[in-house]
Amino acid sequence: MERTKTDIIIAGGGVAGLTAAAAFGAEGFRTICVDPAPPVTDGAAPGADLRTTAFLQPARALLEAAGIWDRLSPEAMPLEIMRIIDAGGRDGEARVSRDFDSADLGDAPFGWNFRNWVLRREILARLDSLPTVDFRPGVGFVNMVPRENSVIVTLSDGQVIEARMLVACDGRDSAVRAACGIGARTLRYGQKALSFAVTHPVPHDNVSTEIHRQGGPFTFVPLPDHEGQPCSAVVWMERGPEAQRLAALPREAFEAEATERSTGLLGALRLVAGPQVWPIISRIADRMDGPRTALMAETAHVVPPIGAQGLNMSLADLSCLLDLARADHDGIGSRKMLATYHRKRHPEIAIRVAGVDALNRASMASSPLLHDLRAMGMRALHDVAPVRKTLMRLGLGLGRGAERPIKGG
Ligand SMILES: Cc1cc2nc3c(=O)[nH]c(=O)nc-3n(C[C@H](O)[C@H](O)[C@H](O)COP(=O)(O)OP(=O)(O)OC[C@H]3O[C@@H](n4cnc5c(N)ncnc54)[C@H](O)[C@@H]3O)c2cc1C
Repeated sequence: MERTKTDIIIAGGGVAGLTAAAAFGAEGFRTICVDPAPPVTDGAAPGADLRTTAFLQPARALLEAAGIWDRLSPEAMPLEIMRIIDAGGRDGEARVSRDFDSADLGDAPFGWNFRNWVLRREILARLDSLPTVDFRPGVGFVNMVPRENSVIVTLSDGQVIEARMLVACDGRDSAVRAACGIGARTLRYGQKALSFAVTHPVPHDNVSTEIHRQGGPFTFVPLPDHEGQPCSAVVWMERGPEAQRLAALPREAFEAEATERSTGLLGALRLVAGPQVWPIISRIADRMDGPRTALMAETAHVVPPIGAQGLNMSLADLSCLLDLARADHDGIGSRKMLATYHRKRHPEIAIRVAGVDALNRASMASSPLLHDLRAMGMRALHDVAPVRKTLMRLGLGLGRGAERPIKGG
């Protein structure tokens, strides 16, 4: 069979893989992206991903350069305030509430929230307009043979591709990672996330709210109104059996339990989509580089959905790869480039995985003493302004250094 030559082959067309295809394609690299599961781009269709993703400030420049931002911006819900509530007292009511306000850092919101199925629809539309990108849904990565200056990849339809670099975005149980012989360390929590969308009588005022009691956080993320009613996406994390019990409840019973768990903050909740159940783990690959291969996104790191870190870490991987590719166009996929990528990204990822793990364990805690310590910690971290601002900058991935001007919008 004839071999197709390209600059980059991307395994995986999840949000990370599709964004990578748009970004490399926009830079002029000939890019093939493959995924055995064709993306679902209609929220009402079976298999639609009903989660939302908050893209934090640093993601915007990347989305602009990839030509995706203008398509997405009409759908963007700005995140201006992140409210954290501790409801770990005996009565389960909200007892400490603290607001982290993006105005403390400048005039831009923390980020922008999008529905995942809308992201897929708009990024695919962008790929259609890029002559450099060949997206092949229904076809997967099967195996690879690295050479000195290229990698030969065989696909599930028997096609053979010769690329200068393979970018692995094929998810947490990556076939590419296995083919490279790269191990990964996994932390399990016995926890699942329920993701769903609700309407509610009380407006969300663009505030994203995380409510901690036990089992994990219950998080409201603002969405545009649904049929004239204020609407939010929810991620509700619980121990596995409890999450399965909740997911199996009849609609009204589920709504009642969700309203109670939210402390009634936005009034009675009415389901408009979901719930879907997602397993929760932390995982970090031992390395982010293999022969002619870069591991990124969930192939390299998985974290519980707290503080919108998951996909934003993936976009930071992509930015790093793009910078290295721009600096040495002909050196893409070289040992030097990939080793630099690993060295720049892996230590930062290890810190973020450890940080999100600690936050998740604090939120899961069931002992009243630990709840009291958590509430004290929350006050202490919030109420000292320099500590609060540093935390916000670190959460956004801006580092703790001098203020960097960020565009509003
Ligand atoms: C409930 C929940 C809420 C979240 N909220 C946020 C948030 O607000 N902000 C944030 O930043 N992150 C969030 N995350 C994390 C974020 O959703 C993930 O990081 C992201 O969806 C993972 O994207 P991905 O492209 O790496 O992986 P996936 O979406 O898993 O994509 C992997 C793709 O690879 C394909 N694939 C599998 N095998 C092969 C093969 N052999 N060859 C080619 N392709 C293959 C699969 O079909 C799939 O399409 C959340 C996660 C959860 C569970």
